[in-house]
Parts: sequence; structure tokens; C-alpha cells
Amino acid sequence: MKDLLNYLFRPSKNSREAVRSAYYGSLKPTHVMLTISVVMCMIFMVLSFFNTPFFGTTAFYHRICYCVLFGIALIWCACVRYAVRDYESRFKIVYAMNVLMSAIFYAWALALAFVNAIMRKELDTTIFMTVSLIVPLSIYLNPIEYIIIAIASNAGMVFLLYSAPSLGLPEDMLGLVNFIVFAVFQIAMGITMLYTRYRLHEQLETAARQHREIEMLNKAQNSFFSNMSHEIRTPINTIIGLNEMILRENVSDEVVEDAANIKAAGKLLLNLINDILDMSKFQSGRMQLLYAPYHTGDMLSDIVGMLWIRAKEKKLDFHIDVSPDIPAELVGDEVRVKQILINVINNAIKYTKEGTVSLTVQSEMKEDKLCNMIYTVSDTGIGIKTEDIPYLFSAFKRVDENANRHIEGTGLGLSIVKQLVDLMGGKITVNSVYTKGSTFIIEIPQRVEREGRVGEYNFSKTNAEKKTNYAPKFEAPEARILVVDDNEANLMVVSKLLRDTKVRIDTVASGAEALKKTLNIKYDVIFMDHLMPEMDGIECRRKIKEQTGGRCRETKIVILTANADEENRALYVRESFDGYLPKPVSGEELENELYTCLPKELVHITGNRTDLAEETISWMNSNKKRRSVVITTESVADLPNEIIQKYGIAVLPHKVITAEGVFKDGKEIETQGVLKYMENINNKVKPLGPTVKEAEEFFAKQLASANNVIHISISSKVENSGYGPAMEAAKSFDNVFVVDSAHLSSGQGLMVIEACRLAEEGKSAEQIIEKLEGLKKKIHTSFIVDNLDFLARAGQVSNGTSNIVKSLMGRPVLKLKKGKMGLGMTYFGSRESAWRSYINTILSSGNIDRRVLFVTYVGINKRETEWIRSQIEKRMKFDEIYFEQASPAIAVNCGRGTFGLLYREKD
Ligand code: ADP
Repeated sequence: MKDLLNYLFRPSKNSREAVRSAYYGSLKPTHVMLTISVVMCMIFMVLSFFNTPFFGTTAFYHRICYCVLFGIALIWCACVRYAVRDYESRFKIVYAMNVLMSAIFYAWALALAFVNAIMRKELDTTIFMTVSLIVPLSIYLNPIEYIIIAIASNAGMVFLLYSAPSLGLPEDMLGLVNFIVFAVFQIAMGITMLYTRYRLHEQLETAARQHREIEMLNKAQNSFFSNMSHEIRTPINTIIGLNEMILRENVSDEVVEDAANIKAAGKLLLNLINDILDMSKFQSGRMQLLYAPYHTGDMLSDIVGMLWIRAKEKKLDFHIDVSPDIPAELVGDEVRVKQILINVINNAIKYTKEGTVSLTVQSEMKEDKLCNMIYTVSDTGIGIKTEDIPYLFSAFKRVDENANRHIEGTGLGLSIVKQLVDLMGGKITVNSVYTKGSTFIIEIPQRVEREGRVGEYNFSKTNAEKKTNYAPKFEAPEARILVVDDNEANLMVVSKLLRDTKVRIDTVASGAEALKKTLNIKYDVIFMDHLMPEMDGIECRRKIKEQTGGRCRETKIVILTANADEENRALYVRESFDGYLPKPVSGEELENELYTCLPKELVHITGNRTDLAEETISWMNSNKKRRSVVITTESVADLPNEIIQKYGIAVLPHKVITAEGVFKDGKEIETQGVLKYMENINNKVKPLGPTVKEAEEFFAKQLASANNVIHISISSKVENSGYGPAMEAAKSFDNVFVVDSAHLSSGQGLMVIEACRLAEEGKSAEQIIEKLEGLKKKIHTSFIVDNLDFLARAGQVSNGTSNIVKSLMGRPVLKLKKGKMGLGMTYFGSRESAWRSYINTILSSGNIDRRVLFVTYVGINKRETEWIRSQIEKRMKFDEIYFEQASPAIAVNCGRGTFGLLYREKD
């Protein structure tokens, strides 16, 4: 009750919200109700004109009333329509209008009743009742106002009824009863509306409270993680920094080994913190990207510089192949793009014992100023089991744990990579053959900042990872720098790490001391911590820049902080810091930053800047250019060599099983040989499709040079089809698509040619597959055979059918329909007349695409093929006729004296 009273008399923001959302949700029903009320008014209005006896002496009076009511309802209706269009901004108007309209309605009804009572000496409550019926239906969102108006108007009506005798009116009991019924109805309506609104308000209140609680929890969690990260980074900075100093000294091998282990453990710990921080951000939906222009070449240099040494340590070949036409400057979150690539390349190095790790970079221009960057990372490592691939991107999940238990990792990396790629609107796919290697393809859409290609990028800016025999990259004895940090250990680490550059270093432990120093000394660079008691780094920077008489107003100030998240990164950019170094910081990072910020005249290069140019450039463009889509098929597609060469089609061989062994189609056995072997009736020969393993290896090989593979297989419905194994093999890869051609021999070949043409036009894999689906019905595959002996031998038709056809000297046609091989027409008579009839029947169709015709044959000599050509040319002209001997796997089903005319219909 207390709640209800509170709600009624102190409507909170939420109760207003409740009204809002209730109104929003009820605009449609309100509109329907209003329409009903308009119709009601109209009916009464029409009745008052045409059925006057129904209204008796009051007909005229009713006519006026209903006309006015009809008018008001119409206006109201129009207003609600207007509100629906842009409810948010018109809410207040509609809300006020509701109250006003209901007041006008009732006032009008009361005034009419009153005038009627005085002038005509009659007390009519019908108009009042009609209003009572209409108004609540349409105003039910302002229940309080409605109840007040209703009570006031009822009081008016009670007054009228009470004063009826004094006005000399007859006492009308029916009017009174009607009035009481409607008054109760009004109040009930008002209370129902109020209750509904209250419930809504309650629900909204609960939802808002829960939302607040979740927000608070998220905030607490985030601040816990970022505090934890900050707190852990500070001591790690000291450990890693001082450890680096040990590695620089001339110490015993044992100490070097221990220090190297400390360094590795420190890095691992740091990666772990970064990963946990990222995961927590994703979980609370607070991961943000920071968009800024960056140089593609520099970004790649940094990555290569960071990782090549790791590959080298494991004696792996590290190839990079950067297409020269990728845009030189892009806009995106460089740090996150780097994080994605480093993670995937690092995994490739981690999970590869020997062989090669390669990075290929390509780009595809999309619409104006937008390009798709395609990064492909391949390795020849342990690969991933097909059944593990779905779990690859799950957080905390390490797949194939037994094999990988010696390799350090948390199972967070790829999950973060996937979420980052998704956040950028990109895609990551994986193709892997267990024990053979993996390929990760990452596509990231980026804006192009400026026209210009990266070209043959010079990697000379690349940073090499620090090795133990340290030497500074430069010296700057005349330069003077200031380091501001409240943590003594941090001051010591920075001073020591920069010691060999010979710069003069001053350190202070607070903002106030820094201001004292900058007042008198001109520093060339200032390294500033962010979180310090009393005056933080941001405030200190502002004061230095505005310091009256200060000598460092123009000095470059670099923030050196343990706050490593995007929010802070963005803050430092907004605050115009000249550089940003997250702790823990390495000597190399410090030196690089200092080198960038110092005036060039103060810096003397010591000649030790590691230059990877030579080594890196020698890897470039060593691979063939990766294609976006590569089309593959099987040997049974019976394609001429010149077409295979022209389009670079990879062919997966079928096999032929004989008593002498299993032979690969086309490679180890050829058609003539098979036919000869089969002349001996006792020699059994059977065609066999490729196995899953063969298909897997075949696809893996193709993916080394392409981002997508479309494999066009023989019809899935023929015996020993290669479709099933290919589909099974494709499960190991995200980028292999198997298309059931629903044909065989050159019919399948025609599909392949069309796919190659589309791929050359630059169509995407999805577009090509869609087109091929439509093409299936337009291709015609048929063969005329001498007899059915071979099919009977292969068990594809019964011996009985074969013998009947043979005894009648019939030459049947084998035809592919909906992917199935079936018997078509049978031609009788001599071979020549049967062939002629077959050619004439096929070429009688007016719908043949005359660009290309395949004549695919088995055991037909040159004279016969010439004869077939002349018969065809007599009937129809083609741009190109290919005479192609069928592959052995097809031949074993047909036998000598077989040929087919294979074509596609016009588009
Ligand atoms: P981890 O920290 O374990 O490397 P990731 O999320 O980066 O975590 O990877 C998840 C799992 O995926 C790894 O444990 C590993 O089993 C598998 N994996 C990732 N990349 C490769 C690769 N290039 N080759 C083989 N397996 C890989």
C-alpha cells in the first residue's frame, strides 16, 4: 500500500518510464479502439438521421451530439496516428492531449445534457454514457487524470439528476440506473488501468535494479582486474628490467641460463595477465577498439621482428610473402591487429617441430575506401584433429592436451583472437590436417587511409629481439632526460636500462618535485608515470606545459605506466602525450622510444641497430601468389590437358583395381592399357574413388596456395563416387567446399570450366557455388555404348538386360538424370546408323550453347572420330569441339566403341 501511495503521489522516473513503455506498447491497440469509437459514433450519427423514431423527439439533438462526437474522435484518431510516427519525441504532446480530449468529451456531454434539460425539459443520459464508453478505451494510459475527470463529470451528472425535479423535469428512473451502471464501469476501468500501470512500474523497477546490480558487479570486476594488472605489472617491471641488466653483464653461463629462465617466466606471466584482462573485458562487454591510422609495412615489420628469432631458435623456416599491392596506410586498431597476428603466428611456431611457418598478406579492395586484409598463417606442425576444431576458439580449452602438455599455454589465446576478429567485423577460419600442419586465414576489414601501395616494403626499421650480447643502439651524452615515478624500483630500472646510452638521467618521485626540476632545467624527454599520490602524471604534464617560466614547456613527455588497457590508452592520446610505454618495459622499447623522441642532433648511432633488411627481404615473395579461390576436380572429369593447364586446375585421381594391383587414374594407368587388359574376360577391373586421407592431403596441398578450395566432384549417386570421401575430408577445413556436380566425365568437366571462369572474374566462393547449383540442370551428359557388357561386369546392370540388348543388336544410350546413371534410347541397326541417329537426336535441340561441345570417347580410332566430327559439323557449328579420351575409371564401365556428346544449354 505504501508503495502504491508512493507511486501515486511521488511518481518516480521509473513510473514515468512505465507509462512511456506502456503507451508505446499500446499505441496499436489504442488506435484500434479509437477506430472502433469512431465507427460507433458514426453508426449513432447515421441512425439519428435515418431512424428518427428510435430517438423520438430528441432526434435532432442527438444528430448534433453525434456529429460533434464523431468529429472529436476523428481528430483524436489522427493525433494518435501522428504520435505513432515518432513516438519518442511526441510522447509529451500525446500524453497531454489524452487528458485534454477526455476533459472536452465529458464537458461536452455534460453541457449538452444540461442545455437539453433547461431547453427541452428532458434529461438524456445517453450521450454521457456513450462518452463514458469511448473515453476509457482510448485514455487508459492516464488513469489518475482519467479518474479525476470521470469523478468530476459524474458529480456534474449527479447534480443534474438531483436537481431534475427543481428544473421541472419528470423523474427518470431509467436514466438514473443507466448512469449508475456507467459510473461503476468508469471507476472499475480506471482502477484496472491504474493496477496495470502499477505492475508495469514494478517490473521496470526490478529490471532497473537488476541492471544496476549487474553494472556494479561488472564495474567491480573490471576495476579488480585492472588494479590487479596494474599491481602485478609494477613488480614484474622491476624483475624483468633488472634481469635484463644481469643478462647484459659479463656473467657465468649458469647465471645467464637462470636469468634467461626468469625472462621467459616473466613474459609468460605477463601474457597471462594480458589474456585474463582481455577475457574479463569481453565478458563484461567493455572491450573497445581504438581506431587510428597506421602504416601496414611498419606494423608487419614489428611482428616479423618480434617473431622471426623464435622461429630461428626452433630451426624453422620463416617465410613471409607480402603482396606489393596492399594499401600502405590503413585505419584500424593496430595494437589489436598485431595481437591477433602475433598470437596465431606464435601458435604456429609453438606447435611446429620442424619445417616452415609462413605468413602471407593480401588485400581485396571492397567498396570505396574499404579493403579486406587477408592474413594467412601456415605451418607444417602437429595439426589439429577434425573433432577438435569446433572447440579451438573456446576459452580455457586446450585441444589434444596429451600431445600438447609439454607446450606452455592457457587455451585463452585463440578465444581472444576470435572475439577480436569478430569485433572488427572480420572472419577467422582454420584448415588443418592432423600431424601435417595447419593454416589459419584471418580476414579483417579496414579503412584505407590514403591511396598508395606498400610495394616492395623495406624492412630496415624492423626491431630484432634482444639477444644476450647487448650493445646500445645509440649514444646521446649531451641529452638530458627526467624520469618521474613514485616507485623507487621503477626509477632504478629505467636508469639502469638506459645507462649505456650515456644520456644524463634525473629521477624524481613525485609530480611536485618534477615541477621544481622542470622550472630550472631543460630536459629533452620526460618519462612520466600515471598513477602517483597527490599529483598524477596527467595533471603533472599539464602543469609542466603551462608552467610560467618553465623550461620544459616544449619537451616531449612519454607516459610510462602499468595501466595497459584501451581506456587508458585512449586517455593518453586525448591528453596529447608524445608516447606511450606500458610496463613492464624492456631496454629495447625504452631505447626505441627515446630514440624517436630525442632531437636527432643529440643522437649518435653506434652502428649496432640490428638491420633485418637483408634477411627479411630474402624471404619475401618466395611463395607463389595466393589465389582467393582455386577450383579442383577429379580425374573422371575428363578435361583436356590444355584446359587443365590454362586454369591451373588441380586434379584428384580416381583409381582402378585389378588383380595386378591398384593404379591411379591417368598417372599409373591409361585407358588403352585398361581396355586391353579387359579384353580377357577373366580379368576383373573395378573403378575406385579416392579415400578420405587422399582427399585430405590433396586439399591441404591446394590450401598452401589458395584461401578457398571449391572441389567439383563426380555425381554422389554413381557407384564409387568420390563425393563422400571429399565431403568427409572437407570437414577438416573451414575453406574447402565440395560441390556435387550431379554429372560425370566431361559433364562434370563443363561445371569445372564454368567455375574456373567465375573464379577468374573474381567471384567469391559463395557466388561460384550458387551459380554451379543452377548450372547442374543445364548440363547434358550421355554416352552411346556398343553394349552393356562392361556395365554388367561391373555389376551396374543385370546380365539379362545386357544379353537382351545385345541379341537385338541394340546400342543403348546411357544418360545422367538427377545425378543417376540410367538407360535412355536404344538405337538399332549398324553402328554407323545408330551413331548418326544419336548425333542427330542430340543436336536437334535448339537450346545448345554453341561455345563448346565435348565428344568424350572410349576405344574409338582416329578415322571414327573424324567421321563423328564431320557428322556434328553437318548439323551444328560450335566455337570449340574437344575430342577427349575418357579416363580409365570411366572406360571400365563402358568398354570400346563408346562416345558421348556433352554440352550445356544456353543461359
Ligand atoms: P594455447 O595457449 O594453449 O596455445 P590457444 O587458444 O592459442 O591456447 O590455442 C588453443 C589450442 O589450439 C592449443 O592448445 C592447441 O592445441 C591448438 N592450436 C592452436 N594453434 C595451433 C597450431 N598452429 N597447430 C596446432 N594446434 C594449434
